[in-house]
Amino acid sequence: VQGDTSKRSSRFPELTLRLPAWVQDCPELATPEYPQPEDRMRLVIALARRNVQERTGGPFGAAVFDMRTNRLVAPGVNLVVPLNCSIAHAEVVALALAQQLAARYDLGATQELAYELVCSTEPCSMCLGAIPWSGVRSILCGAREEDARKVGFDEGPKAPRWYTELEARGIRVVRDLLRAEAADVLQQYADDGGEIYNGRQANAR
Ligand SMILES: [Zn+2]
Repeated sequence: VQGDTSKRSSRFPELTLRLPAWVQDCPELATPEYPQPEDRMRLVIALARRNVQERTGGPFGAAVFDMRTNRLVAPGVNLVVPLNCSIAHAEVVALALAQQLAARYDLGATQELAYELVCSTEPCSMCLGAIPWSGVRSILCGAREEDARKVGFDEGPKAPRWYTELEARGIRVVRDLLRAEAADVLQQYADDGGEIYNGRQANAR
């Protein structure tokens, strides 16, 4: 999200979601198809890791895939710090870009559509809220909420069995896919002294 003063039509900025330049040439994105769940998870872990190395945001990656073709639709990385935007989580970025590419706000609008969101870490409370509205039929998660908490990230208020609520809405949930590899990126970010940003706590002022 960037304010471009030259295009400003009111006193408020325009918001643009733009992936970091390195994403364009990311070798993992060159694969034509990602048939196995592990192939898809490896891609989002690579995005998360590279986002840490390039210092272009938090240690989180996500991507939307078309389940009919096993092709990547849109990648996403966490852009909260560089864009000064608390909603720019990897999942939100990937979903928003996929919706632009599909030219529809509901990726599940018709029976034939079948999109999947893959997240390097289980969705936080905000992203969890965004998932049923996006129309995806399936989500794959790598690291667990507790892995994120271990390095200081807060996942926000979520029901303990949040995945059952998605499943009740017809969204398939797979957890713990390559969990150790995914959690390793979180640890790497913390070890590098990466900024930990969180939701406002109940006792904070
Ligand atoms: Zn989130």
